[in-house]
Amino acid sequence: MIRFFARHRRVITILFAALIIGGIAYLAVKTKNLRTSTYDDETFAGTAFGTAVKKTIYSDDEALRESVSALLDDEFKNLEQRISYRNVNSEVAINNRSYVVDGVTAFSPDLLMYIKRELEISKETEGAFSPCILPITQLWGIEDGKNEVPSQEAIDESLTRTNADDMEIADGGVIFHTANMATDFGAVGKGIAADTAIDVMSKSGINGGVVSIGGTIAVYGDKGNGKSWHIGIQDPRDEDGKVLGVVDVTGNTVISTSGDYEKYFELDGKRYHHIFDPATGYPADNGLISVTIITPDGFLSDALSTACFVMGLENGLSYAEEKGVSAIFVTSDKKVYLSMDLKKKFNIKADGYEVVKK
Ligand code: ADP
Ligand code: MG
Repeated sequence: MIRFFARHRRVITILFAALIIGGIAYLAVKTKNLRTSTYDDETFAGTAFGTAVKKTIYSDDEALRESVSALLDDEFKNLEQRISYRNVNSEVAINNRSYVVDGVTAFSPDLLMYIKRELEISKETEGAFSPCILPITQLWGIEDGKNEVPSQEAIDESLTRTNADDMEIADGGVIFHTANMATDFGAVGKGIAADTAIDVMSKSGINGGVVSIGGTIAVYGDKGNGKSWHIGIQDPRDEDGKVLGVVDVTGNTVISTSGDYEKYFELDGKRYHHIFDPATGYPADNGLISVTIITPDGFLSDALSTACFVMGLENGLSYAEEKGVSAIFVTSDKKVYLSMDLKKKFNIKADGYEVVKK
C-alpha cells in the first residue's frame, strides 16, 4: 500500500489537487448563481388610505430601497389628499359640497378620467357599481363604527342621490343633475395607488417589489430567479389573516380583493358590511364573501372587485371573463370559483374550502 502511494505520488497529488480546485470552482459558481439570481429585499410598513401598507423592495442597493419606499409614501399621501372625501380640503370633498346642480364641475384631468371610467363600469354592470354611493356609505357609517340598521325612510331618501344616471361627463367636467350627490373614490382609490406604485417602481431602478395597500397588492418586476411571484389571497373567514390560497403571477400585476370581512358589524346573527347594493341600499347579500380580481390595470382591478362582489357569482364571473381579467370568487358555503386562466395558477391552502371546477 505504502509502496503504491510512493510509486504513484505525483499522479495522486495531481488528482487530489484537481479535486479540490474543482470543488472550489463548483462552490464559487453555485454561490454566484445564488447571488445574481436573488436580490436583497427589505420590507417597510406604514399606513395610507386608512389601512396598513407593506412595501417589500427587491434591490441590492440599500439606499435605493429606502428612497423608493419613501417616494411611495409621498405619492400615496399626495393621492390621498386629493381623493379622500374625508379630507375636507381634498378636490373631491370641495367639489362634493360646492357643485351647482346642472352646472359643470371641474376636476383635474386624471380624476375626470377615473370618474369617466367609473361611469362606464356603472353602465356595464347595470348600476351594481355606483361612483356616487357615498350618501348610502355615510348613512350606514360602518367604516366609522356605527352598528345599527338605518330606517327604510332614510335609506330610500339616500338612494335618490346615488344613481349614476344623474351624473355625466360634459364640457371637460362633471355635471350632477341632483342636489347633495357625492363622488367617492373608496372603491377605486387603492387600485389607483397600486398603479402609481408600479409606475414609481418601474422608474426607480429596483429589480422588483410587492406593495400591499389593505386588500390591494401591486407586484412589480421579478425576483431574478426566473420564477413567478406567489401571492397569498386572504382567507375571508380567518381572523388571523391566514391565506385562502396562493396565486402565481408575473410582475406588473395588481390583485384586489373585496370582501364582507373587512368592515362590518353583526346584529341578530346577520352580518352588515361596507359594500352596498345600489339597488337596495343594503349591504350586498348574494352569497359571496370575497372577490379577487387580477389584472395589470390597478384601477380596473379595484373597481371590478367591488362591482363583481355586488353582481354575485354568475353575473360577476361572466363580467370578469368579458373584461379579460382573472378572478377568484368565494361563496359563504366555502366554495371557490376561478376564471378559466387561473385553474393552473391558484393553489388552495386553507382547510374547509373546495375549488369548484366549472
Ligand atoms: P375596501 O375599501 O375594503 O378595500 P372595496 O374596494 O370593495 O373595499 O371598496 C369599498 C368601498 O367602496 C366602500 O367603503 C364604499 O365607499 C364604496 N362602495 C361600496 N359599495 C359600492 C358600490 N356598489 N359601488 C361603488 N362603490 C361602492
Ligand atoms: Mg374595490
